[in-house]
Amino acid sequence: MTNEQILQALHAYGPVHLKAVMFDMDGVLYDSMKNHAVSWHETMLHFGFKNFPLEEAYMHEGRTGAGTINIVSQRERGHDATPEEVAEIYAYKAELFNRCPKAEPMQGAYELLQKVKASGITPMIVTGSGQKTLLGRLNTHFPDIFRPELMVTAFDVKMGKPNPEPYLMGMQKYARYQGGTFSPSNFIVVENAPLGVQAAVAAGVFTIAVNTGPLPDEALLSQGANLLFPSMQSLCDHWEQLLPLFTQ
Ligand code: MG
Repeated sequence: MTNEQILQALHAYGPVHLKAVMFDMDGVLYDSMKNHAVSWHETMLHFGFKNFPLEEAYMHEGRTGAGTINIVSQRERGHDATPEEVAEIYAYKAELFNRCPKAEPMQGAYELLQKVKASGITPMIVTGSGQKTLLGRLNTHFPDIFRPELMVTAFDVKMGKPNPEPYLMGMQKYARYQGGTFSPSNFIVVENAPLGVQAAVAAGVFTIAVNTGPLPDEALLSQGANLLFPSMQSLCDHWEQLLPLFTQ
């Protein structure tokens, strides 16, 4: 990534006066997407949905469980699943997920979070996840980084990604916590999923995609990602280069 590429992206977006970075969790802070993908794939097969390749889980990442289930039900059966079916299928998926080996923190994530914080920029979490196992481990793996007042999880939102709601709520929480008025140009988002990028872009925020999964870069760029890095480590390695351009 050259300065010129970054400046070009900033020119297209407009100036960023960075105050806080909103990090997605699955596939960004934790290497947890493989577990989600395998769990979804096996769950769909178990309930008789034959056509749900592993890769599709990455395309749906960020959606609510009910949203994913109904897309597949509509496609294969021509109608939504009943609320009871949704509950049963989602419970099965959550059980498989919890049996998976524990997801490790993404390489480079903690180092980047420490750099962000040391720069005087506030790190936040905006996730559609309601997996208590991961949320509960945040303070163990990333000690002294996140404040509970500055987190958005599945328990806060109604719509979920790709709706901009989670990121709009993140910005509201920051403004409430910090006091004062802020605009989307005071934030950046770090996302790994196409629907997450879509949500962040719809919220008007400069969006950095990290392609930590099997999808082609184009799946993220076509949703409007402003910059793309191949990994969290790579984004971390570029932080010193990005910071001055985002705080001018
Ligand atoms: Mg994600």
